Amino acid sequence: MPPSLVSFQQALVTWFQANQRPLPWRNGYDPYQIWISEIMLQQTQVERVLLFFDRWLRQFPGIHTLASSSEDSVLKCWEGLGYYSRARNILRCARIIVDKHGGIIPSAPSILLTLPGIGPYTAGAIASIAYNLPTPLVDANIARLFSRLFNIDIPLKQAGALLWQKAKEVVPLTNARSFNQGLMELGALVCTPKNPDCHRCPLLRFCIAHQNGLIDQRPIHQKGKKQRLIEMATGILSYSQGRHAPNLLFIQQRLIDDVWGCLWEFPGGKLKTGESPEQALVREFLEETGFSVHITGKITRTIHHYTCYKVILHCFHCSFEHSPDIPDRRELESALPSPPILTAAQQYRWVSFRELSQFAFPAGHRKLIEYMQQFPQTLTIPVQKIRG
Ligand code: SF4
Repeated sequence: MPPSLVSFQQALVTWFQANQRPLPWRNGYDPYQIWISEIMLQQTQVERVLLFFDRWLRQFPGIHTLASSSEDSVLKCWEGLGYYSRARNILRCARIIVDKHGGIIPSAPSILLTLPGIGPYTAGAIASIAYNLPTPLVDANIARLFSRLFNIDIPLKQAGALLWQKAKEVVPLTNARSFNQGLMELGALVCTPKNPDCHRCPLLRFCIAHQNGLIDQRPIHQKGKKQRLIEMATGILSYSQGRHAPNLLFIQQRLIDDVWGCLWEFPGGKLKTGESPEQALVREFLEETGFSVHITGKITRTIHHYTCYKVILHCFHCSFEHSPDIPDRRELESALPSPPILTAAQQYRWVSFRELSQFAFPAGHRKLIEYMQQFPQTLTIPVQKIRG
C-alpha cells in the first residue's frame, strides 16, 4: 500500500473520531439499527431521520418484533418519511432474515444484495459500518467528495463505475467502519455542495481539485430536468350517521404496486387537459368507486414538492349526488350507501375524523388532514339532512 494512501486513511479516521456527530445508531453499531438508519437516510436528511428513529425503535425494537408486525403498523410508523416502498421492503426483508437467516442480519454484501430494498450502497454500509468489513460504498456525499479529491471531470451521473472503483481502492482493510463514515461525514459537514470549508478539511493536501483551483467546477452537473407540475383533486365524501353522531368519511387503501402503494387516501386523481379540479374530482370518484358525487365546498389547496415534480392538490368536500334525505334515524342502517366498486384501491372504510389518525396517508393528504385539524370549522361539512 503506498504510504500516501496510509496517511490519507489515517488522516480521515482521526478526523472522524474527533468530529463525528453523536447519532443514536452509532451507539454500539447494532446491525439492526444500522440497517434501519441506512434505509431511513436514503433521500432523507439526518435531522429528519432523528425525529423518526427513536419512535421506530420503541415500536419495533428488534427484527423479530418487526417481522411479526402488520404492514399497516409499519407504514403508519413510517408516515411522514416518504418513499413508502422503503418501509414495505424493510418488512419483507425482516421476514426473510427471520425465516432464512435465523434473525441475524447477514454481513456478506453478496447475501445482503439478494434482500429486498438493499442495493450496493446499503450492502456496503451494513457490511462496513455494522460489521467493520473492508467494503466500499458511495453515496451522494462521497460522490461529491471524490469528484473534488480525484478531480473527476465527467458528470457524476456518468461516473458511477469510476466512483465505486475509487471507493474500492481507498477503503482500508482495518477500521473500514470509521473510514467509510468519515467519508460520508466529511461530505456532509465540510466538503458541502456549496462553499466547502477546505481549511478545516483533513484531506486538503490530497485534494487534486483544490491543488488545481477547480473546486467551484467540481462536481460537474448534468443539466437537471425542470420540476414537473402535476395538478390533482381530492374529495372528502362524508356521510351523516345522525344528528349527534360524527360524520363518517370515505377512505380507500391504494393498490400494492401503485405509487404510494398500500397507503390510505381520499379518492381523487390528476386533472386531465382542460378539466377544472371540480370536474376531475367528480370523474375520478365515479371511475375509482362508482359513486356519483357533487361538490359541496372547497377546503384548501396543498402543495407538495417531490424530487422531480411538484403536486398541487385541490381539496373539496363532496356528498352523494342522489342521496335521498334520510327520513328517520331508525332508518339510517337501511339508508347506508351501497358498497363502492373499487378500481384503484384494495379496500375501503367509512371512518370518523378522529379515526383517520390510525391510517397512513401520503404527504398531500396528511397535510389536508392537518389543515382540517388546525381549522376545525372546515370539518363542518354539508351533508344530507336528517329529520327526527
Ligand atoms: S480540500 Fe476542500 S474540496 Fe477538497 S475534499 Fe477537502 S473540503 Fe472538499
